[in-house]
Amino acid sequence: LSERLGGVFDRLTKQGALSEDDVRTALREVRVALLEADVSLPVARQFVKAVEKKATGAAVTRSITPGQQVVKIVHDELIATLAGEGDPGSLRIDTPPAPILMVGLQGGGKTTTTAKLAKRLKERDKKKVLMASLDVNRPAAMEQLEILGRQIGVDTLPIVKGEDPVAIAKRAKTQAALGGYDVYMLDTAGRLSIDDELMAQVEAVRDVANPRETLLVVDGLTGQDAVHTAENFDTRIGITGVVLTRMDGDGRGGAALSMRAVTGKPIKFVGLGEKMDALETFEPDRVAGRILGMGDIVALVEKAQQTLEVEQAERMMRRFSKGQFNMNDLRMQLEQMIKMGGMGAMLQMMPGAAKMAKQMDDAGMDDKILRQQIALINSMTKKERANPALLQASRKKRIAKGSGMDVSDLNKLLKMQRQMSDMMKKMGKMGKGGMLKQAMK
Ligand code: GDP
Ligand code: MG
Repeated sequence: LSERLGGVFDRLTKQGALSEDDVRTALREVRVALLEADVSLPVARQFVKAVEKKATGAAVTRSITPGQQVVKIVHDELIATLAGEGDPGSLRIDTPPAPILMVGLQGGGKTTTTAKLAKRLKERDKKKVLMASLDVNRPAAMEQLEILGRQIGVDTLPIVKGEDPVAIAKRAKTQAALGGYDVYMLDTAGRLSIDDELMAQVEAVRDVANPRETLLVVDGLTGQDAVHTAENFDTRIGITGVVLTRMDGDGRGGAALSMRAVTGKPIKFVGLGEKMDALETFEPDRVAGRILGMGDIVALVEKAQQTLEVEQAERMMRRFSKGQFNMNDLRMQLEQMIKMGGMGAMLQMMPGAAKMAKQMDDAGMDDKILRQQIALINSMTKKERANPALLQASRKKRIAKGSGMDVSDLNKLLKMQRQMSDMMKKMGKMGKGGMLKQAMK
C-alpha cells in the first residue's frame, strides 16, 4: 500500500486542491489495501464511503497537502471504527462468582486464551479464578486446560469422565459458589466450522451459566471467515466481546475491522503468542497502522497534524502582528492552555510571552479560572468578541451575570486581552514580522 498510495498522493500533492475525483482515486487504492489486509468486501466498501464523505467535505477548509489529508482521514476513521465505547480491557465481573463463557471455532485459541485471561485476572485484578473445560469432543482437551492451570497457578474443575458440557457447567457454577471464587471461566469445545450441533450445545451451556461475559475467540489471521464466525456466534449466542489471537503473526489484522463493523461488539484483547503472558488489551491505533500496512503512515499523519497546526499558527501570527487580537483569539489560547496544561502554543512561540505566562501562573491561573474566563467570553455576543472595545458598563453587567461572575472578573479578562494585543502589536512592528518570524523558527 505504501508505494501505491505514495504514488497517488504525490500526484495529489502537485495539484494543490482536493477534488472529488482526487479523493475517489486515492480511496480506490485504500479500498484495495483494505481487501489485501483481509477486510471483508462490504465492510471495506462501507468504510471507504464514510471516508469519502469526510474527505471531500474537509478539503476546502484545510490547506495541508491533499495526500496527507486523505491519509489522516483514513487513519482517524479506521481508529474510530476499531475503537468501541468503553475501556477495551475491562470485563463485567463484579458480582462473584461471575461466569465468563469462551466460545469460538476449534483451534482459534480458546483454551490458551482462557488460561491467559485467568492469569491476567489473577495477577492484575487479584481475582480468584476457577477454569473448567467443557470440551468433551477432543481427546486430551480437558487435560490441556488442567496443565495450563497448574502452570499459571489457577484452579481447574476436577475432570469427571463421561459428563456432558451442560453438566460440567452446572458443576462449575456450584463449585465456584462453594469455593468462594470471583470468576469462573467456561472453555467450550469448537468445531472446524460452524454447525448446528455446536451452536445448540453452546446455547444450552449459556442458558445454564448465564454468563456475564461471552467472549468470542477468533484467529486474527483469518479474514472473511472470521466475519461469518462472529456474525453467527453473535446471532445465536450473543457475544459481549472479541479476542483476536495470533496477532503476533504477520497477518494484517483486517478481521478486526470487519468484526467490529459487522457485530458492533468491542474487541477486548489480542493474543500475541503462545506464552501465558502474551495477552494484551486491544489498542485500536496499533491495529489501524497494521491494517494500512505501513509504519510511515503514522508518521505521515503526525506530520499532517503538525503542518495544520503550524499553518494555523502562522495565519494567526499575521493577524496578531497587525494588532488584531480579539476575544476569539484569547479564548483559543485559554482552551489550549487547558488542553496542554500550560502555555498556549502561540504563547510558547513568542519571546516575552514567558513573562506573561508567569504572571498568569502567579495569579493562580488554574483550570478552574481558565474555564471561568472562557465562560465569560462565551457570554459575549459575536460582535463583542470580535471587538472588545464595545464593552461598556451595561454590557459588562450582562456578561458577568450571564456567566455567573463579577464585573471585576471581566475587567481582569479585558486587561489581559489588552496587554496581549499590545504586546503582539509591538512585536509586529519590529521589522516586517521580524520578531514573530524569528520566534516561529
Ligand atoms: P482452541 O481449540 O480454540 O482451544 O485453541 P487452542 O487454545 O488449543 O490453541 C490452538 C493453538 O494456537 C495452540 O497451539 C496455541 O498455542 C496457539 N495459539 C493460541 N493463541 C495464540 C496466539 O495469540 N499466538 C500464537 N502464535 N499462537 C496461539
Ligand atoms: Mg480448546
